[in-house]
Amino acid sequence: MSRSGYQREYHIAVLGSGGVGKSCLTMQFVQGVFVERYDPTIEDSYRKHIDVDGRHVVLEIMDTAGTEQFSTDMYMRLGQGFLLVFSITSASSLRELIDLREQIVRTKNDPTFPIVLVGNKSDLEEDRAVSRAKAFQLSQSWGNIPYYETSARRATNINEVFIDVCRQIIRKDLARAR
Ligand code: GDP
Repeated sequence: MSRSGYQREYHIAVLGSGGVGKSCLTMQFVQGVFVERYDPTIEDSYRKHIDVDGRHVVLEIMDTAGTEQFSTDMYMRLGQGFLLVFSITSASSLRELIDLREQIVRTKNDPTFPIVLVGNKSDLEEDRAVSRAKAFQLSQSWGNIPYYETSARRATNINEVFIDVCRQIIRKDLARAR
């Protein structure tokens, strides 16, 4: 904790089904490149320094691979903010987030924990299987959490999702410090 009451290093977990683009999103944010093929077995974390509304923060981003319960539990515990990622081309990838969100709320015992819903692959509009309205409706039913559509390929809305989740964490930290 800094003297002004907010922590300067945040752990962000990127969660969602395999193939939705979690690694590509993370690489695009951290390194500014689109990596077409990425070893899906690699489970890694990356650091990035950013400024959010004039505050300098360091993000430790956990790009979660695999669906082993052990790793999911660990990310759930460590995460201070979550990006719940699905692909707009896969309806099942959105459904799979319902369980993950429930796990977050249960683990953190907090229905307002910092979460952003992310519909990735927005460049594949012709293959869209999830309407914007449907995803938005789900985000509203989860306590009005923000919903963004991103494209890791085109670098669309990537910074926005990370900054949004940081803003939510900072707001919570400041409220707690009051
Ligand atoms: P992960 O398993 O969730 O980490 O998914 P990856 O990041 O490995 O991406 C899975 C596949 O989707 C790869 O073939 C990527 O090239 C592709 N992909 C990821 N993001 C996008 C995107 O925004 N647009 C398109 N068209 N393809 C993407």
